[in-house]
Amino acid sequence: MLPQPISINRPVKERIAWAESCFQGSGNLFLKDEKIAGLLAEFKSAVKASRQEMNKTGVVTLCRECDQEEGGSCCGRGLENKYDAWLLLINRLLGVELPGERRQADGCFFLGEKGCVLMARHVICINYMCKKITKNIQPSALNALREMEGAEINCLFMLNEQVKRVFRKWMS
Ligand code: SF4
Ligand code: SF4
Repeated sequence: MLPQPISINRPVKERIAWAESCFQGSGNLFLKDEKIAGLLAEFKSAVKASRQEMNKTGVVTLCRECDQEEGGSCCGRGLENKYDAWLLLINRLLGVELPGERRQADGCFFLGEKGCVLMARHVICINYMCKKITKNIQPSALNALREMEGAEINCLFMLNEQVKRVFRKWMS
């Protein structure tokens, strides 16, 4: 049976189950689409570049210290509700295994042992920089990072549109 689209207002476990059933039930339909395959490759490169830049600027170190030594993190419970089922499906297409349970009672559902388990993240998660970051890192370095994140966001937008197009074709 074809999976019907699911609202972002449904519980996160239902959205994950929907993404899983689309991924499993589509018989590689999405991955066989040339446009999607190209965009997935482009997206992976964009993510790699912006993660390298995060390392270079020192954001990764600051966040690690914050998480492991200061008991702080910006990945709070409820942020998983920003993720619609399309974005979760894109993560599956990128090879991400979606979690079955929440690890930390007060943490986001997608917060794993070593940080976020997702590769395709919501704009809110990509763009967020707390005061600790903006105070400790040069604005020029943050601007360079922003530019790379912009490429990641643009690619994700196109991916989202194409995945919906292929899904609609599958439904028709
Ligand atoms: S962005 Fe700020 S609050 Fe979030 S983990 Fe990094 S340092 Fe901590
Ligand atoms: S970065 Fe990942 S773990 Fe953190 S709030 Fe966003 S989705 Fe959740």
